[in-house]
Amino acid sequence: MKVARISPDRTIEVAQIAEPITAPNTVKVRVERCGICGTDLVARTSPNPRWAVGSVLGHEIVGTVAEVGEGVAGWAAGDRVALYHGSPCGQCEMCLSGRDYLCLDHLDSALGHGVAQGGYAEHIVVSPALLHRIPDGLSFDQAGITEPLAIAFHGVNKSSAKPGDAVCILGAGPIGAMTAAALKARDITDVVFVDPNPARRALMEKSSYRAVDLAAVQRDGVEALGARRPTAIFECTGHVDAAGLAVELIAYNGRIVLQGVPKAAVLLSQYSVVQKEVEIVGSASCTQAEMEEAMGHLAAGRVRAEDIVTAVVPLERADAMFDALLDPAGDQLKVLIAPNMPAN
Ligand SMILES: [Zn+2]
Ligand SMILES: [Zn+2]
Repeated sequence: MKVARISPDRTIEVAQIAEPITAPNTVKVRVERCGICGTDLVARTSPNPRWAVGSVLGHEIVGTVAEVGEGVAGWAAGDRVALYHGSPCGQCEMCLSGRDYLCLDHLDSALGHGVAQGGYAEHIVVSPALLHRIPDGLSFDQAGITEPLAIAFHGVNKSSAKPGDAVCILGAGPIGAMTAAALKARDITDVVFVDPNPARRALMEKSSYRAVDLAAVQRDGVEALGARRPTAIFECTGHVDAAGLAVELIAYNGRIVLQGVPKAAVLLSQYSVVQKEVEIVGSASCTQAEMEEAMGHLAAGRVRAEDIVTAVVPLERADAMFDALLDPAGDQLKVLIAPNMPAN
């Protein structure tokens, strides 16, 4: 079968590999769409041995059940499904304490994280425990953002945000856009973005959000955001200066949710954190319940994937789309790869 994988010169190359076998208690899924995640963008050129040459990336997967292994009940060929991104071990302290989405072994089981094959492939074989049924009426282009939207709902669940609150999102990239969509689905609509890229600000403004240039915020501080100090801030940039900025902008007793992964240690004013009694929480991954919630909002039309997905491309264009997504002035937001789409 055809896949896109990390090549020796650290590009994403198209190659043929053996089609995976549908073992007992597994399901083979024909991959219809697989989103490009920020993790994938980092993996392509990462020196971390986890991301070895030959790795097939991709963990934001939707598709059609192609074959059902012996012993699997409840699924049949033709079923349309969204995949949760990994299988918790069930034995570590996180799994045993009911927080299996933080499984200490999660990277080795996670789809497209260097060990298990990912979704940049025509087919993938997974445990049926990962499958979520896509409701009729929801297209693969729409359902294709279920996993990253669930990640956004997880961040919203980690925040204290409620309707009526002033919320600020640092970074109008895919995670920021999904976070705004998740907030809106929960009727939290007083949202302002901060981003240095005019193309991404324009995309957010097209969806009726306010979007402010980072330079204006650096110059004028919280005044640039509008009337109210945000009581919740979502850090969705991964920039090394973003957490420090969030600490300055946040209201007294506000909560900052960190979702980006900066390459270096960050500096922030502990004085401000103490004086304002700021709460800072991290947000990683998502639960299977958040997958269901995300899909429910998509099916109900409360989240419009059309406003977030900017391109759907065949495997052959994956590498070029990585470049486009990494371009600081680029206008791509969420790109879905369609592995069974013809190259031309
Ligand atoms: Zn991801
Ligand atoms: Zn575990």
